[in-house]
Amino acid sequence: MSQGEGFAARVLAWFAVAGRRDLPWQTAPTPYRVWVSEIMLQQTRVATVIPYYERFMARFPDLEILADAPLDEVLHYWSGLGYYARGRNLHRAAQRIRDQHGGRFPQTLAEVEALPGVGRSTAGAVLSLALGQRHPILDGNVKRVLCRCFAVEGWPGRAEVQRRLWSLAGKLTPWARAAEYNQAMMDLGAQVCTRVRPHCGQCPLAGLCRARRQGRQACLPEPRPARRMPVRAVQMLLLANTDGELLLERRPEQGVWGGLWCLPECPGESEPEQWVRTRFGVEARAGPRWPVRRHTFSHFHLDITPVLMRGGPGGNSVMEGGRRLWYNPQKPEALGLAAPVARLIEELQRQERGEGV
Ligand code: SF4
Repeated sequence: MSQGEGFAARVLAWFAVAGRRDLPWQTAPTPYRVWVSEIMLQQTRVATVIPYYERFMARFPDLEILADAPLDEVLHYWSGLGYYARGRNLHRAAQRIRDQHGGRFPQTLAEVEALPGVGRSTAGAVLSLALGQRHPILDGNVKRVLCRCFAVEGWPGRAEVQRRLWSLAGKLTPWARAAEYNQAMMDLGAQVCTRVRPHCGQCPLAGLCRARRQGRQACLPEPRPARRMPVRAVQMLLLANTDGELLLERRPEQGVWGGLWCLPECPGESEPEQWVRTRFGVEARAGPRWPVRRHTFSHFHLDITPVLMRGGPGGNSVMEGGRRLWYNPQKPEALGLAAPVARLIEELQRQERGEGV
């Protein structure tokens, strides 16, 4: 038995007794269902994804329904999952499959990889889990298992480390039962070879694992080299009109929170009343500021100072090409709201009900 066969046999034997087989996307695993789950699972844990996935599938049960739905509604169902580019790409990809593939999910690695938001590992996972094709995968969990088991040095984000890991993944993936093997590797990383304190005593690879032999589980995979994250400061304006509606602006498609609805963001050093007058032509009085809260993106920190403002007129005087609206928190529309904005609106409502912030 080759090293690859021995490795896969251990992983598959473990999967037979300890693997997960009852996740919602594992029942009737079509490429569409598996694809949506794989996109949601990027950067998000299984337990968090499950309720979002079930709601999403109840509303968008097939590719055509997703492709035909308005982006706003798709983002609404994505609200809270974060990394909204994933939701936008999912929608764009569904439209591309409808328009360029006759609505049939593509079945070759090259075609799936060409879809917006789909990388090599996700494409391999969809085709192997849904159709049983043999493709290696390399998501975060699999990288961790391989880095430890083979003592792969260097941060996995570096190109040469990636190449080494893909080469290992390619050699280890068995020709038969590739779907089970890939699912098993993801499960092993999530449940046994965990980021902190891996459960080596329960691991089928313990006898092969170099990190374990060397006592270096905590050092591998190597972390991303430290870099200082820049900090941006903004004031988020909870600008209410006389009907108690809040002004929201839709973000441009590109950039953070792309396509989502947000509270107006006034630069940290500007005076909000003046800024609102200049930008919207609205006379409004600034009330109290709430304490700063920090939202961290992958490449910077955003320090948000919420400012309560009253007195803007209702109606359409500030509207601009469908990119602004007055939002009634009592009768919320199905909009994609950025998570910190949804939280601020919730806090405001609690305060107005006398429940404090
Ligand atoms: S023995 Fe420990 S470190 Fe090695 S692969 Fe298994 S769980 Fe991970």
